[in-house]
Amino acid sequence: MKQVTSLQAQFLACLDQVLGGIRTPISLHEPEFTGNEWQYVKECIDTGWVSSVGKYVDALESRIAEITGAKHAIAVVNGTAGLQVAMHAVGIGAGDEVFVPALTFVATANAVSHCGATPHFIDSEARTFGMDSRALEVRLSEVAEPAPGGGFRNRQTGRRLAGVVPMHVFGQPMDIEALIEVAQRFGLPVIEDAAESLGAFRTGRHTGTFGTMGVFSFNGNKIVTTGGGGAIVTNDPALARRLKSLTTTAKRAHPWEFVHDEVAFNFRMPNLNAALGCAQLEQLTEMLRRKRVLADRFAKAFENHRAFVYSATVEGNCWLNSVRLIDASEETRNSVLQACMEAGYHCRPVWRLMHRLQMFEDCPRGELLCAEKLENELITIPSSAFLADNKELQAVT
Ligand SMILES: *Cc1c(COP(=O)(O)O)cnc(C)c1O
Repeated sequence: MKQVTSLQAQFLACLDQVLGGIRTPISLHEPEFTGNEWQYVKECIDTGWVSSVGKYVDALESRIAEITGAKHAIAVVNGTAGLQVAMHAVGIGAGDEVFVPALTFVATANAVSHCGATPHFIDSEARTFGMDSRALEVRLSEVAEPAPGGGFRNRQTGRRLAGVVPMHVFGQPMDIEALIEVAQRFGLPVIEDAAESLGAFRTGRHTGTFGTMGVFSFNGNKIVTTGGGGAIVTNDPALARRLKSLTTTAKRAHPWEFVHDEVAFNFRMPNLNAALGCAQLEQLTEMLRRKRVLADRFAKAFENHRAFVYSATVEGNCWLNSVRLIDASEETRNSVLQACMEAGYHCRPVWRLMHRLQMFEDCPRGELLCAEKLENELITIPSSAFLADNKELQAVT
């Protein structure tokens, strides 16, 4: 028989408190389609408006602008493409260097590479798991020197320092103002990877609206989904026009002629996906409410343990709940994950840090002590909204 350590047993007992009685296996995150999804998608097919033109794409953009308070929203095929075209729009390209957190989903760093630029990895901060503005500042003081043509370059690599792409981890707002302050001193545009943080505000302001641009994802595992999709938000009208053009082959408006102004992308979200998204967005408020109920229950269940701590989210959208195993080794973390899997709870570690992935192992980086610690400590736990509807708990909480 396998030995169950007390750490594993305690961890499982906490999950049981919230998830007990729900049929297992319970996956990490599942989408939910209980509104007008079917009706809107069917309408696209019935009317023939399935592709990149249609009323749902425009409606989705208006809704995203409304929800986030951004002046403009541009729908795109997915979050990764959104990040790429956002960087392209501020002139990030071949030979440039862009600061990204080491602790992020691979798409953040991939998007930098798709622009022909090189990611430069920065440490995280232990409270929000977001990019540490002090670590960025330290790194800039180590490597930045004024470049002959203006701006700054990395004195070690010779590459132009071209931007910063911080990320709001698990939908929890990071300390974005402090980061922007550092970036501005070096003339670096900030593009927020807000892929996970739709519905997450910081001091009343929506994530993704602090930087030059913010990018959301509507992939199937995010808080609302379009199947695949994303959106870029910005308050800059010229940038919004340019993004719209860049994502739609830079075609000049004309009733019949095909004239294109530059080499651009085909990144516009299809109407079919937007239809699904419009139906999903109708349920966002209720989704956020139920996720908060679930998160509050986890916070309570995981409180007062010495070996682990629930990562509280005060202003976040509670997209993914996470727990830190204090000072854990990778081995300890894996033993807890194994016990969770065997109990039917599909918990996961955080992403393997970017500088450990083979395609990024030679990229420049600062010290990554906090990110490396979090990599061993973090476990994400089942967070689908429907888990808040647990009948056994509704009566008591
Ligand atoms: C999901 C995600 C993306 C990319 O989104 P896609 O729509 O899947 O391309 C980018 N960054 C982060 C942090 C994400 O979680």
